[in-house]
Amino acid sequence: MSEKTHKMQRRLTRRNVVAGAAALAGLAVLPRLAGAAKAPKSALKYQDTPHDGQDCAGCIQYEPGKSASAMGTCKVVEGPISPKGWCLAFVKKS
Ligand code: SF4
Repeated sequence: MSEKTHKMQRRLTRRNVVAGAAALAGLAVLPRLAGAAKAPKSALKYQDTPHDGQDCAGCIQYEPGKSASAMGTCKVVEGPISPKGWCLAFVKKS
């Protein structure tokens, strides 16, 4: 094996180790995110009505129900969430 080939193999191996470590770190975070507790409605001042033209249907955290007017869920607030609701964690969909 030439010295050049040997160096390339070492570089590839190091890159694979770094990529593998990054992937493992990402996988380690997933269960924590998946298991993260949602906040109670009161903690984020959730209300069933819009606030200054903002509502849950327009928030990136909202997960719609079976229809546009049905109750949905939220990624960060616990319990059923109205599409016309709002809370302090509102983040506008882009
Ligand atoms: Fe509604 Fe707040 Fe959840 Fe956004 S973060 S969907 S505003 S409850």
